[in-house]
Amino acid sequence: MNVQSAEKLTQLPPYLFVEIDQRKDDAIRAGRDVIDFGVGDPDTPTPQFIIDRMSQAIADPGSHTYAFGIGSEAFRQTIVTYFHKRFGVSLDPQSEVVVLLGSKEGIGHLPIGLIDPGDVVLVPEPGYPVYVSGTIFAGGTCRAMPLTEENHWLPDLAAISPEVARRAKILWLNYPNNPTGACAPRSFFEEAIAFAREYDILIAQDAPYCELYLGEEKPQSILEIDGARDVAVEFHSFSKTFNMTGWRLAFAVGNQDALRLLAKVKSNLDSGVFKAVQAAGMEALSGIDRPEIVELRAMYRRRLDVLANGLRDIGWPVTTPEATFYLWAKCPDGLDSREVCRRALDEADVVVIPGAGFGKTAERFVRFSLTQNEARTREAVERLAGLKW
Ligand SMILES: *Cc1c(COP(=O)(O)O)cnc(C)c1O
Repeated sequence: MNVQSAEKLTQLPPYLFVEIDQRKDDAIRAGRDVIDFGVGDPDTPTPQFIIDRMSQAIADPGSHTYAFGIGSEAFRQTIVTYFHKRFGVSLDPQSEVVVLLGSKEGIGHLPIGLIDPGDVVLVPEPGYPVYVSGTIFAGGTCRAMPLTEENHWLPDLAAISPEVARRAKILWLNYPNNPTGACAPRSFFEEAIAFAREYDILIAQDAPYCELYLGEEKPQSILEIDGARDVAVEFHSFSKTFNMTGWRLAFAVGNQDALRLLAKVKSNLDSGVFKAVQAAGMEALSGIDRPEIVELRAMYRRRLDVLANGLRDIGWPVTTPEATFYLWAKCPDGLDSREVCRRALDEADVVVIPGAGFGKTAERFVRFSLTQNEARTREAVERLAGLKW
């Protein structure tokens, strides 16, 4: 049999970090001491109180059966309580909350419920690649919204032509933003909601970093804005907040029509989140103010200070992110990000991600993940200081 790729699969954008991955693997295989700021995955373990709840729940036979549907009643109630306490937003647990197997799953499946061939999906560039792949699997067409430094890494909605806007069904936003670390001011969310109303577009706001704020100010939910739930859904994840990337747990909240469609797609493709993981998730979310979680932010903050100050000392024009565990650093002397990444790895055994892999407007930036401890971060800065840029 001659197995051939489906047409849709061939439309997926190429993975643009092949070169850096290859070089990193080569360096590690050659026995070099590589300091890797590439991966967006927390390096410290899931807090013990969450693991303990999981251990208990896994021993209960009641956890072992299918977990069909949109998440347990108790878990959705815990999400509603969190959302009210954190954002002052009251959600209906029956119609405005859907539990997900990680937000990547929900992001990938949402367009399948909403998009027909010919429909447009507006995606930020640079941006998380699943906004694009989900659209392609659904048969839709992506239009990139460039995020630029001049516009504070917010899309310029006024630059979207009315013809494109009329064909658009979903507008992806991601604040706090990966890779830039930018947060959206309330005024931008208001503008996006007005735009979405005018053109009848669903806003899908991806917020996995909303608890990873690095300053005093807590990022807002788009649902805090009056009328937002008429046009918006928001994705929240346990992955980054609680060091639970491998557990696969997230939820979507907001517009009930969109969530009903997402739930319909999901009910045909998956059978819900393991009940023991949902129990652990309840423990995590109820414990969001515990010192372990507060300390995670403080840890990233300390690493950020070491990295940002260190880079500034050696002449990199670094601005401090408001949230996320990324430092989005402008390359020294206007250098191209591919060149900077190549030299950081070849000459200093330091891995950073080239903005060029995310798109044109990011070409002169590189992304550092704050996933190396302070000592290793300091060591990396010292090595980079040894290079002549
Ligand atoms: C990490 C990340 C996700 C995926 O989170 P999961 O809940 O682990 O699937 C989604 N969006 C962005 C922007 C991310 O950085």
